[in-house]
Amino acid sequence: LLEAVDVRKAYGDKVVLRDVSLALQPHDVVCLIGSSGSGKSTLLRCLNLLEDVDDGVIRFEGREISDPRVDRRAVHGRMGMVFQAYNLFPHLSVLDNCTLAPRRVHGVPRAEAEARARDLLGQFGLADQALKHPDRLSGGQQQRAALVRALCTQPTLLLLDEITAALDPELVGDVLTIVRDLAEQGTTMVLATHEMAFAREVATTVCFLHEGRILEQGPPSQIFTEPREERTRQFLRRVL
Ligand code: ATP
Ligand code: MG
Repeated sequence: LLEAVDVRKAYGDKVVLRDVSLALQPHDVVCLIGSSGSGKSTLLRCLNLLEDVDDGVIRFEGREISDPRVDRRAVHGRMGMVFQAYNLFPHLSVLDNCTLAPRRVHGVPRAEAEARARDLLGQFGLADQALKHPDRLSGGQQQRAALVRALCTQPTLLLLDEITAALDPELVGDVLTIVRDLAEQGTTMVLATHEMAFAREVATTVCFLHEGRILEQGPPSQIFTEPREERTRQFLRRVL
């Protein structure tokens, strides 16, 4: 479904990603772990073309999307992304946030877009919040609404960047439950997270990033219990 081959990315002369290769099959859940600054967010942003890569290739659904001639809007329409800080449009209701892209980018009629959004909002416990503006919602509700918005375009791939990092601890569980449900439903995802217990539970593959490289990747059972690299061991000792 998604493949990155030898991706390199630098900001000025600071190399942030080097030789990053990654392959995802449908229904895979890839968790990116690693210290702050190791390149997790940058990798996610490269995967969905929010950043240009300096070298290497990214293929999505069989097409080389890192080719500059590719229409980015079309790619964005097939990948949903949710960031750490809530990224709802403050001037639109939750419902309008959720229907904007389906209507504008995908040409879905309003009634159909709203029906789908209301259905998803209901599933995520947000049925009563549809007509409110985001600032009337709690942080956890906003983040769930951001997930619904990403799902409303029916993406084939979800990219999630530390979506619980800005939440109060008691709200983290709610949002993780939803991501867990999505994983169980077979949603293909790449997520950067500092929640190790969660990564261990939902990931099909864990990638440990260190200084812009994927130093080690494998099933969670291997990475968390018998990491091959000393750096991975050090990192896990600090965070577990
Ligand atoms: P965290 O866990 O704190 O979110 P991360 O693993 O997501 O960290 P990145 O945000 O990908 O790390 O950053 C990787 C490196 O790239 C850091 O050294 C950061 O300072 C640098 N960096 C990120 N974005 C830019 C930018 N727009 N311009 C210059 N340097 C950047
Ligand atoms: Mg980050």
